Amino acid sequence: MTYHRQTASQKAYERGTPTDGYHEPLFYDEDKAREHLEALRWPSGPICPHCGVVDNARKLEGKSTRPGVYKCCDCRKPFSVTVGTVFERSKIKLNKWVLATHLLSSSKKGMSAHQLHRMLGVTYKTAWFMAHRIREAMRDNNNDIDIGNGGLGGENTVVEADETYVGGKAKNRAFKEPPKK
Ligand SMILES: [Zn+2]
Repeated sequence: MTYHRQTASQKAYERGTPTDGYHEPLFYDEDKAREHLEALRWPSGPICPHCGVVDNARKLEGKSTRPGVYKCCDCRKPFSVTVGTVFERSKIKLNKWVLATHLLSSSKKGMSAHQLHRMLGVTYKTAWFMAHRIREAMRDNNNDIDIGNGGLGGENTVVEADETYVGGKAKNRAFKEPPKK
């Protein structure tokens, strides 16, 4: 069955109103989405993707600084939680990436770019691009959409599904040895 019309909740979502199913702040608030990713990816504090140091970075604040940027106190380089993920350097808001990933990973029948386009309120072209990148990340991780257990790792990939989060470059992982080549 395909959608030919939008449901009331989809319309409400596109207007920015939290509705059933998408009421989680991380799905409509970019800051909340970033905090969600930070909590999942950095349970022991920010991890510098440049030198690997854990929890030795300070958050950069100020009007000219993008939100979510940290500066490593060891190597002095800036980074954010999206470095090395499919969300990196995207102009699409992080909360839309998080919602798209949630929709793609939780929908049993899969979801077309057209449905995503309607549900996220982005252009069809953008929705197609997002679906492509997210599916690629999921496939590279585990050959399996159901990533509820395991599937950790995968180069340059991030997948968020419910409370499970996987991804990032293997060499950036804080607690595991990178896989031997
Ligand atoms: Zn560093």
